Amino acid sequence: MRKTIFIPLLFCAAHFAFCILPPRSRAAAGDEGAKAYALYLNGYLSKAAEAYLALAAVKPDRLQPLLDAAMVYKQLGRYRDSAKALENALKIEPYDTEILSELGWLKFHQADYETAAVYFERALKLSSVHPRAILGLGSVYSNLGDREKTLEYLARYRQLRPDFAGVDYIIAWNYMNFKMYKEAEESLIEALRKDPSFIEARLPLAGIYARDRKFNEAWNQYYRVLNYAPNHPVASKLMKVLEGRLTKQPEELIPPFKITKPLKMEPVKVLEELSKAVRVRVGLGTNNTGKQGRNNILKFKSFQGFTITGKATGKIYASAAPDEIWTALFKDGKTVIKDPKGLVWGKFSRPVLLKSKNFKSGAIIFENVKNSKNPWIRYSDREYRGAIELYPIAGRGLGIVNIVDMEVYLLGVVPSEVPAQWPYESLKAQAVLARTQAIIRRARGGTHKAGGYHMCDGQHCQAYKGVLAEANTTNRAVLETEGEILTYHGKPAYTFYHSNCGGYIQASGEVTGWGGSPYLVTHQDTPPEIEKPVDSPWKFHQWITGSPQTNCNYPGMVRSANFRWLRIIKHKDMEYRINRDYKIGTLRELIPLNRSGSGNVNSIKIAGSQKTVTVDREHLIRNILGFSSIKSTLFMIAINRFKNGKVRNYWIYGGGWGHGIGMCQSGAAGLAGKYGKSYREIVEFYFPGAKLSKLKYVRKK
Ligand SMILES: [Zn+2]
Ligand SMILES: [Zn+2]
Repeated sequence: MRKTIFIPLLFCAAHFAFCILPPRSRAAAGDEGAKAYALYLNGYLSKAAEAYLALAAVKPDRLQPLLDAAMVYKQLGRYRDSAKALENALKIEPYDTEILSELGWLKFHQADYETAAVYFERALKLSSVHPRAILGLGSVYSNLGDREKTLEYLARYRQLRPDFAGVDYIIAWNYMNFKMYKEAEESLIEALRKDPSFIEARLPLAGIYARDRKFNEAWNQYYRVLNYAPNHPVASKLMKVLEGRLTKQPEELIPPFKITKPLKMEPVKVLEELSKAVRVRVGLGTNNTGKQGRNNILKFKSFQGFTITGKATGKIYASAAPDEIWTALFKDGKTVIKDPKGLVWGKFSRPVLLKSKNFKSGAIIFENVKNSKNPWIRYSDREYRGAIELYPIAGRGLGIVNIVDMEVYLLGVVPSEVPAQWPYESLKAQAVLARTQAIIRRARGGTHKAGGYHMCDGQHCQAYKGVLAEANTTNRAVLETEGEILTYHGKPAYTFYHSNCGGYIQASGEVTGWGGSPYLVTHQDTPPEIEKPVDSPWKFHQWITGSPQTNCNYPGMVRSANFRWLRIIKHKDMEYRINRDYKIGTLRELIPLNRSGSGNVNSIKIAGSQKTVTVDREHLIRNILGFSSIKSTLFMIAINRFKNGKVRNYWIYGGGWGHGIGMCQSGAAGLAGKYGKSYREIVEFYFPGAKLSKLKYVRKK
């Protein structure tokens, strides 16, 4: 069998060479500055710092190279050298609040709180609303044990960055230090309201609930942690401990979502207007690698009634009346079908098809089953148009594949990928991209070929929640773009997309393991007229810790927590996590090395007492730094130490969610909503050189 290649594009052999200098650094101030920046991006950090210092020596009046040298030293963990460079910069610009504030932070992270306070106060004297200086001073007071001032400054910071979930987390952390649990609880809830995926906030919240003997609530929080981080060791352990103390059954704490009546809205009309399309096979209830779940039992019905037929023979084995709930069990390697009375209607080793009796507008509903081994069906009913194929998978369970028209499939994809209330043109852009991805995967077989389907229903391919997700707006977006895909030189383009780029699109060729492509290139996610270069370590630092104006910075429409985030991870936790995958012993160094032109980290050096490893895969970098997985590789790490020099924790300032390649979904919303761009302009912005084309569906067997 031919091996399938994920992206059959040319790999850039010159990954580590200077020839792939991103275009923007060529335009950076001066050749020497550009060279130093290239050293920095390519992970030669000591050389980069030296180059910046050499530049500063040649032109002693120039501030920029000193600031850049300082940030390179910071990335290297050399905080004294970093502070020295900034102190020299301060001699040139004694009233620069940014320099003062960063000096404060360098001192703070070295546990020199008194000096840190002096710098923060100087910055605040010049600019009383400098957010980072305010956060810094609050953090200093926290470490000095001054409760009142800590809370005062943190509250001021919260006013300046109201959408930033990180601040609520820091405030909560402080409340806990001061043993003010009620207030800590409120701040954690606030952080989670802004960012439900913030599991570092759920764990202490569960702890507070358990402390107050609110075991049901505590259990619920751990349960939610497992949603984001399946098998999380602490959460799974404590959930079991709590189970004996619950006053309610788990299904009462999380009532299952039930479908009680047929959907009566526009979709039905849209279904009539859509013309016939090719069919796709979608694996349902798949896990995070896109494999079929362990379905030991399924219960299903249809409001229109349904038939069960042999897939190969076409023979009708059973015909169910409307609302009748039938069961399929996985037993002795077969699919055992039972009617509502428990009567066995057949034991099948080959695939069977479930079809609603009104095939065009009806659907098959899977009822939630609490003792299912597949969490996908445990707490919610599910509903799908098209046919359902059930088949036994030896040693695993029942496989479920939805065989559905491409356009009908998209009705369930677009609202699963982006909120249906987003600006309309961005929904159309999403429909075009999702269709293009599906066309490519369908033609190529893709990673799920062996599993017998073109795509899974999770983030692994693209999210597909079927009828449950459908909405009028997204249905119209699919209908209005019917058959439209994005092409490059007449072939479907690789329309990668992600939730939020953090402000800078990453070129595919710069990421380890991805191929280069003429339309998956790096550029800022801003309209050209407001673009400001981020072409030096200092500028990147200001940019990632600030809230720059970009398409995807769109408060009110896009969760701010997806654009800028902060995670504080204890040294011990980090060491534990890294040692799960790499037996490095005691953690000694954690240094981001290579970066894309966008600032995304593409390799990270982890030095331990037993060995040193360099992690260079996007998903591995993200996995190693988070409880589950951090949101992106676009980040900067600040190393926070005790007075004795030992590392206390790591502050990870990050931006964006996802791989940052192709279309930024949040940015598309911004382009449509803030700047009035059409879906055509949106896709051409994110895939320069690619074109919209209309597909003529040809039915294939
Ligand atoms: Zn998949
Ligand atoms: Zn973006």
